[in-house]
Amino acid sequence: METKLHIEPIQNWPIYKGRPLLISGPCSAETEEQVMQTAFQLAKLNKVDVFRAGIWKPRTRPNAFEGVGSEGLKWLKQVKQETGLPTGTEVATQKHVYEALKFGIDVLWIGARTSANPFAMQEIAEALKGVDTMVFVKNPVNPDLELWIGAIERLNSAGIKYIGAIHRGFSAYEKTAYRNQPKWQIPIELRLRIPEMPLLCDPSHIGGKRDFLFDIAQKAMDLNYDGLMLESHISPDKAWSDKNQQVTPDALLNLLDKLILRQPLSSDSKFLDILGELRGQIDMFDDQLIDLIEQRMNVAETIGKYKKDNNITILQNQRWEEIIRKVATKGLSKGLSHEFIDQMFKAIHQESINHQLKVMNTVNAGK
Ligand code: PEP
Ligand code: MN
Repeated sequence: METKLHIEPIQNWPIYKGRPLLISGPCSAETEEQVMQTAFQLAKLNKVDVFRAGIWKPRTRPNAFEGVGSEGLKWLKQVKQETGLPTGTEVATQKHVYEALKFGIDVLWIGARTSANPFAMQEIAEALKGVDTMVFVKNPVNPDLELWIGAIERLNSAGIKYIGAIHRGFSAYEKTAYRNQPKWQIPIELRLRIPEMPLLCDPSHIGGKRDFLFDIAQKAMDLNYDGLMLESHISPDKAWSDKNQQVTPDALLNLLDKLILRQPLSSDSKFLDILGELRGQIDMFDDQLIDLIEQRMNVAETIGKYKKDNNITILQNQRWEEIIRKVATKGLSKGLSHEFIDQMFKAIHQESINHQLKVMNTVNAGK
């Protein structure tokens, strides 16, 4: 049921000058002065590709600051005229799209609460029909890759070909140090599914606190993301929204200067030789893992047959708990996380059960 996508690689985007593509600006446009001052300082850094500011703010609870609305679009237009920076804002309804385009906003993005809603996505896609603009789609608040891809497909079907994804983390009920859980495997899987699509990381909304920004941004760069969205405000502590995660333009420059940009590929033959050797080892271990699992399944099938002959149920909780306890302890002593061991053995156990069920439910011709 996969839709064929036609997405421009980032090198073809009008705003792209090199890695990382950087979108920065305040969480919200608050006043003309705040927008213009932040924009001038960011433009001076010579590293920002798009100036962002939220005009309509989706707030979790009512009565919080919900954005200045269309008036702020005039300020963004002025930013472009006076600093030359392309501008971007979040759109969540058809009206937002029409207004933003009327004021010449260059980049639109779909927020996490909107990309989770297929009806809203479809309406936005309709409003964008025939428009050759750039649109980023933030991951939906819930960790659902198909929903994220669905939002992208809707825009692409409407003819939008400059589509990028922004990883901003996922909501969780439990309180964690980060504001939103990164769940890096989801954007990595997205990248495998749609390799040509630009992928940005938004450390501000993942971390929720200034102190976390650098580590998240560095990790994104190490995973070969194309760019970053980082919130920056002239006086973060006075920001009307998301004040704990915004940094001054100077602090932003500091962060960018510290970032190490590694290359995805190398032509150094010595490096490639060693890498090839190490990858050979990985391939060998993967091979052995599969062989071992096959052997384990063979034993499980024998047990299944034995249980069948003796009329015993497949699942024995006590035995399973004993296995999990034993492997978790051993795993921990080998530097393997509890979470990993738990997930891996649950998967292996489930596969064993499937094999045993098959044995149980096969009519034995010999009997
Ligand atoms: C934002 O970028 O300010 C924003 C509201 O983001 P998100 O949709 O990721 O919460
Ligand atoms: Mn924000």
